[in-house]
Amino acid sequence: MIAKKMEEMVKGSSAIRAMFEEGKKMAAQYGAENVYDFSLGNPNVPAPPQVKEAAQEILEREDPLLVHGYMSNSGYEDVRAAIAGSLNRRFGTAFHEENILMTVGAAGGLNVIFKTLLNPGDEVITFSPYFGEYRSYVSNFDGVLVEVPVDMETFLPDLARLAAAITEKTKALLVNTPNNPTGVVYPEETIEKLAEVLEEKQREFGTSIYLISDEPYRELVYDGAQVPYLTKYYKNTIVGYSYSKSLSLPGERIGYLVIPDEADDSALIIGAANVANRILGYVNAPSLFQRVIARCVDVETDVAYYDRNRSALYEGLVKAGFSCVKPQGAFYLFVKSPVENEKEFCEAAKKYHLLLVPGSSFGCPGFVRLAYCVSYETIVNALPKFARLAGEYGLGA
Ligand code: PLP
Repeated sequence: MIAKKMEEMVKGSSAIRAMFEEGKKMAAQYGAENVYDFSLGNPNVPAPPQVKEAAQEILEREDPLLVHGYMSNSGYEDVRAAIAGSLNRRFGTAFHEENILMTVGAAGGLNVIFKTLLNPGDEVITFSPYFGEYRSYVSNFDGVLVEVPVDMETFLPDLARLAAAITEKTKALLVNTPNNPTGVVYPEETIEKLAEVLEEKQREFGTSIYLISDEPYRELVYDGAQVPYLTKYYKNTIVGYSYSKSLSLPGERIGYLVIPDEADDSALIIGAANVANRILGYVNAPSLFQRVIARCVDVETDVAYYDRNRSALYEGLVKAGFSCVKPQGAFYLFVKSPVENEKEFCEAAKKYHLLLVPGSSFGCPGFVRLAYCVSYETIVNALPKFARLAGEYGLGA
């Protein structure tokens, strides 16, 4: 018999993954070119050539005992120093290697920080819609995820609702900008106001409320959108970063946490996160890819490919009669379902071999998510199918 808690987890297991598996089956049945799989955020732009060059050079030139060995649970000192240096150059921060802890992707980083911070019953607030895995990451440590709906016109946080949701049990606010699933990027003004709310509530309750910024999509922005660096607005900010999306390395499981000196109990958190990384069984982030990252910290992401997809899909869907906000970041569109039960809509879409993810996976029924990290041809070929699907609902007439 498996654990009760796991029974629930398995039941509620990721709809995104289920859709991905279904997509593979459909591809085998109908041919991959006839299936339009918008389900998974798996980058389809290859990693930049510098990644391969770095890996080759490391394997040829660096000491294999170093490259493949254990190191500090927080990661190699030189890698962490290289990351701190890059952040300082790009964002005017003043981090040093102790502020950086190498993690097994963003998922590993979030699990480490929740293990470090949460007592059973502690509350973590997040804005819905949100990346559905947050539910599991918080529940892993017996925390309680509190969902605060965003303004559905703009997908930006509703700060009055946030203020009302904070209690003395609030340990953290988990934000994700650029956002999965809406693609929204929080402007500076929103972040300033959000920081004010948190400051005020810390004073009211005499607690420390950590702002955890989950930002694997930081570099994937369009139309010149800026993504402010949150530690500069609120001192109790902890950043979780990952190279899964920006360098197209999701399978390599490499990312980091930034725990700034200014955060309350910073030294304690840094020490505890190091232990958490070890005792969760990660031990340390993958060593070869830590070393690769040290050589690629300033490699820029080519976002033009996703930008072209974004425009083509957005314009095509709007023309077909669907309604959605044009996103400024990440590689997702969050589209209003033409019927209240969006799962029904996803089922209808499957007739055209269109695979979409229901918004309820993101705590937001009535919408569907499309990941446009697919080939441009997939989008072009899918648009007539979307138009036919829209026709079933009397849209675009
Ligand atoms: N956070 C968000 C918002 C994501 O969309 C994802 C992956 O899709 C993750 C975290 C997990 O990223 P990683 O693969 O680096 O663990």
